Amino acid sequence: MSEQRQSKIEDIYIESHEWHVNTGDETIHAKRIAGRFRSFRWYASALWILYFAMPYVRWDGQQAILFDIPHRQFHLFAITIWPQDLWMLSLVLILLAITLFAVTAIAGRVWCGYFCFQTVWTDWFTWLEDKIEGNPIQRRKLDAAPWSTRKIRLKSLKHILWMLIALLTGLSFAAYFTDAYDLWYRYLSLDAPLVAWVVLGSLFTVTYIFAGFMREQVCFWLCPYARIQSVMIDKDTELPTYDVERGEPRGKLHNKNNEKRGDCIDCHLCVGVCPTGVDIRTGMQEGCITCGMCIDACDSMMEKVGRPGGLIRYASRKEMDGEMLPALFKRPRVVIYSLILALAIGGIVYGLTHIPPVELSVVHERQPLFIQMSNGDIKNKYTIKAINKTANDLHMRLSIVGAENVRIVGEEAQDINFQAGTLIPFHVFLVAKRDALKQERTPLTFILESLNGAKIKLEYESVFMGPVGK
Ligand code: SF4
Ligand code: SF4
Repeated sequence: MSEQRQSKIEDIYIESHEWHVNTGDETIHAKRIAGRFRSFRWYASALWILYFAMPYVRWDGQQAILFDIPHRQFHLFAITIWPQDLWMLSLVLILLAITLFAVTAIAGRVWCGYFCFQTVWTDWFTWLEDKIEGNPIQRRKLDAAPWSTRKIRLKSLKHILWMLIALLTGLSFAAYFTDAYDLWYRYLSLDAPLVAWVVLGSLFTVTYIFAGFMREQVCFWLCPYARIQSVMIDKDTELPTYDVERGEPRGKLHNKNNEKRGDCIDCHLCVGVCPTGVDIRTGMQEGCITCGMCIDACDSMMEKVGRPGGLIRYASRKEMDGEMLPALFKRPRVVIYSLILALAIGGIVYGLTHIPPVELSVVHERQPLFIQMSNGDIKNKYTIKAINKTANDLHMRLSIVGAENVRIVGEEAQDINFQAGTLIPFHVFLVAKRDALKQERTPLTFILESLNGAKIKLEYESVFMGPVGK
């Protein structure tokens, strides 16, 4: 690294001690500028429309995504996940966490800048604010002006629209836990259960306060991800970076002495557009959510003054130091994250494709292990639990194999009708002639077979207990 560059970087680092972190005592009114990253932010935030739409999508006549807590089922299109399958949820959580780590290692806080609900909702709220109250200068003037009819009108309109978004956010969240259409009806007829009102009220309040008032403060002080991101990034991570060598010494475009200056004309546009109030020229800092707005701003300014863009750009520390960026597969962090990701994805795919349509469990009664009936026969009791995970009613037959002298008591115990999506526990008794038992524990297998619909056959190994030798 050249001495000149080293000295410029040191100057910047000295400056970095003067990082300004807004502690919430001032409202940031960021300017909006069109550009590549601004467009990408819109496209990314548009994905959240799915959040509002999905509760109304139907699949096979039922809600496509439904967390049915009373019945302990999670419906995901054609798949129904029961508590027994919740191990997949841990894999999904691992998948999400590792994806976040991997993306952060490669490109910093992309999640924060483009996809996070906090930044997306804040972006929608500030867009409305911009449309209603005007640009940042007009907004600051309005804030400072005494209350007037105009100020009341503008502020009221803004808050009503914010509240409508917050209300829709809360209602959409609640709609993932019950039938969405029925929920609307029950809210509108004021007949919704208390828990539905609590969920709606909580989500409404959090959305309205977090996106409308706290904004970047949530990222600074409440978000745990912002705190741990520094351990995930390294010198290879691509982040919005100010090109110190090219930009410094910064100064006005036309200076009196016609001194040689760097490309930064100190216009402060990059700071003016930053939604978290960061000056990226003082180096990477905690408040930066890597949204790229400063890149758009600086590129537009460079275009105006006839200089090449990229004074602020996505670049790694190594690139800035003139080193080659290693290929992704040569970065240990990325390789390890990718391997864990592949394992988690493999586990989820395996789990989803191997969820049995019916589950069977058999528990042998322990107290007593058996009873001797008045005619001398030996009787054992079992608790059977069967879950029909399919979307159809099933007619099934229970039988036993492996113990010739043991039979099920009662024909009716063998034929089972059970409805779609239900768990049925029932008792079954097996009997055997005492003389026919050759050992204390006679192994046998319960078989549960479908008599209609798809061919389903389940087996469960158990034992028949008897008093041989006594
Ligand atoms: S410094 Fe740039 S990339 Fe970082 S938050 Fe501000 S505008 Fe976004
Ligand atoms: S927008 Fe570009 S030129 Fe203007 S102050 Fe920021 S870095 Fe310098």
